[in-house]
Amino acid sequence: MNEYQIKYIQLKKRYEKSGGNAEDVQALYEYKDYLEEQEALEAKWVLVDVCETLELYKTAYEILRPLVSRSDKKALKRLGKLQSFQKQGDIFALHRPRGGSERERQAKILEKLPFFKYHPNPLETKAFLEDDNPVECECCRKPTKIYYSGPFYSVDEIHKLCPECISSGKAAQEYDGEFQDEASVEDGVVDNNKLDELIHRTPGYSGWQQEYWRSHCGDYCAFVGYVGYRELKQMDIVEEVLEDPVLDSWGDDKDEILECMVNGGGVQGYLFKCLHCGRYLLWADCD
Ligand SMILES: [Zn+2]
Ligand SMILES: [Zn+2]
Repeated sequence: MNEYQIKYIQLKKRYEKSGGNAEDVQALYEYKDYLEEQEALEAKWVLVDVCETLELYKTAYEILRPLVSRSDKKALKRLGKLQSFQKQGDIFALHRPRGGSERERQAKILEKLPFFKYHPNPLETKAFLEDDNPVECECCRKPTKIYYSGPFYSVDEIHKLCPECISSGKAAQEYDGEFQDEASVEDGVVDNNKLDELIHRTPGYSGWQQEYWRSHCGDYCAFVGYVGYRELKQMDIVEEVLEDPVLDSWGDDKDEILECMVNGGGVQGYLFKCLHCGRYLLWADCD
């Protein structure tokens, strides 16, 4: 066994023993950063293992592909398995608890984009997709490498919008469309400008069912992302979301329902954060 494998096995054991707490996930991510900088071939193979453990299937597939030779049946089988997973991309991977190169990369891109207070990181939530070959915004017709392809309720079928046309309200106006159904938002917000910003000037998210937007402290919340029980546990907010009276409608079994929630699974969680008191709030639906 080489030094890279030994270190990986140590980290994986710690991760499995703790049931995936934030520290151990972070350590795996930091080891991934380290391995990415190594030239040695052994390091690349271990990098595939680390990515698989973190459920970064698309990344794992892309790293493994050039390493596999036609005669290596075992590696080919593994590549085939990863190929079937990689279509779902890295979206359901374990969340990185803190910072890291991907977060820094996103922050640099976000600096140049309009800020959406109700959906602050649309790159992380994949509401905004990235393409090295610019696509044409269907509203302003300008080329854009970052585009929105999420829910947009309008008569015309619109698939690609640039961030600027969302932020300015131009897309909503031009197509008489909405990014979020105004009937499907939580009560408690009296300011109509806030509703206007949410439904006409904020990128939406994709739910299994009709999307629902949470509110708190008299304002709409920020959409943080797609979560399961595992993600809530890593963020250490299981208790906090369970205290929410809205979840009482789940009945006495709400703890168990929450434990069954898997990101990308049949019971899907959508996490929001109050812009005023900072509380995390959950919404969930089923396929
Ligand atoms: Zn545009
Ligand atoms: Zn609040």
